[in-house]
Amino acid sequence: MTQNITTIGFDADDTLWHNERFFRLTEGRFVDLLSDYAERDHLERTLLDAERRNLGRYGYGIKGFVLSMIETAIEVTDERVPAAVIRQLIDAGQEMLRHPIDLLPHARAAVEAAAQTHRVLLITKGDLLDQERKLAQSGLGDLFHAVEIVSDKTAPVYSQIFNRHGDGAARALMVGNSLKSDVLPVIEAGGWGIHVPHGDTWALEHAEAPEQTDGSRFRELPDLGQLAALMRDIG
Ligand SMILES: [Mg+2]
Repeated sequence: MTQNITTIGFDADDTLWHNERFFRLTEGRFVDLLSDYAERDHLERTLLDAERRNLGRYGYGIKGFVLSMIETAIEVTDERVPAAVIRQLIDAGQEMLRHPIDLLPHARAAVEAAAQTHRVLLITKGDLLDQERKLAQSGLGDLFHAVEIVSDKTAPVYSQIFNRHGDGAARALMVGNSLKSDVLPVIEAGGWGIHVPHGDTWALEHAEAPEQTDGSRFRELPDLGQLAALMRDIG
């Protein structure tokens, strides 16, 4: 084969370690703090609208999430939210920035195995400092040939990254939990997109799965323990 895969990109959050569950926990606290003002459903919907609206301003990550919670608190209370509640939302966000790193099953073994045969990259979006902290605490940092923390994961972004660190997207494969961010744009760029679903996936990361046919460059794996076998399969 002349088109062997030389480069493997790994997503970080909810691919190598848990992340979304800390957002869901904090959202639960947010709902409790504002339960005197609005119903759970309304709070969750209003917060999600704020997050969607703010993505283009603040990007992905905890800082933008906290600002969206504060904005929603002001909105649902008709600007009467007590400062003590704002304080608790800020505290909740700072606690998220300290959450421990809990690796997902097979994460270390999968990256180690991939690094023996391929160039491995970490490709993630989110707050720069927070992503750097999590990578450092994960103990996986030394396994990666390069780390890219980007503002968004689009086909052109993947093309640039795989050109810079590999042999182009056509000879690259990306592994991640988000169809929208880790799989579809990589396939669009000409690479392989490998979906490893995680139970908690943010509503704004939702997308429909492409068809998994012999000719397609899409595969789904139940967990990272299956990655080595897949690599032997597709090269
Ligand atoms: Mg992810």
